[in-house]
Amino acid sequence: MNIILLGPPGAGKGTQSDLLVNGRGLVQLSTGDMLRAAVAAKSEVGIRAKAIMDRGDLVSDDVVIDIISDRLDDDDTKAGVIFDGFPRTVAQAEALDKLLSSKGLSLDAVIELSVDEDALVSRIVNRAGESSDARADDNVEILRNRLVVYKEQTAPIIPYYREKGALKTVDGMGSVEVVASAIASILDAA
Ligand code: AMP
Repeated sequence: MNIILLGPPGAGKGTQSDLLVNGRGLVQLSTGDMLRAAVAAKSEVGIRAKAIMDRGDLVSDDVVIDIISDRLDDDDTKAGVIFDGFPRTVAQAEALDKLLSSKGLSLDAVIELSVDEDALVSRIVNRAGESSDARADDNVEILRNRLVVYKEQTAPIIPYYREKGALKTVDGMGSVEVVASAIASILDAA
């Protein structure tokens, strides 16, 4: 079973992915984690991606599509994957469709975690207000930028999957357990 978890930064995609990895033996494919590993390894891709990631902008579609394509060739992904933080643009969604069909794979569900973005921002702003870390204000600005980037570049993939009849929306503002059980019901029916 291959699924996509969609939602703005802070919606809980990582937490829910961890639960699915442990509960269903799926492999998490987080392009953010893979890019951070490239940055840490100071690879060519990592060196180019770092400044973009630090601003909260998106790295180029080609880079992430290549990373995902290579990763899907690894044997462990045959058990099924959770795409976490990918696709993030309509071009990536289209490329993923092509990639999956060329590899003989399918997409079983696209799950959107819908959250109140104002609540996400105020949570971060409050945390920054309580913090003595000078970087906290920068973090608020970066988060705001990440939300703008999500709205402008990533949210258009929601109608893309809705039109294909693949989209399921879960209220992401509930507790971790409530959200997990809503996701479980969708996957059990898929
Ligand atoms: P994440 O951990 O998913 O929030 O990703 C951290 C950062 O990595 C993002 O803010 C982007 O700069 C970059 N990134 C991760 N996934 C993608 C993607 N699918 N397309 C473009 N940039 C990405």
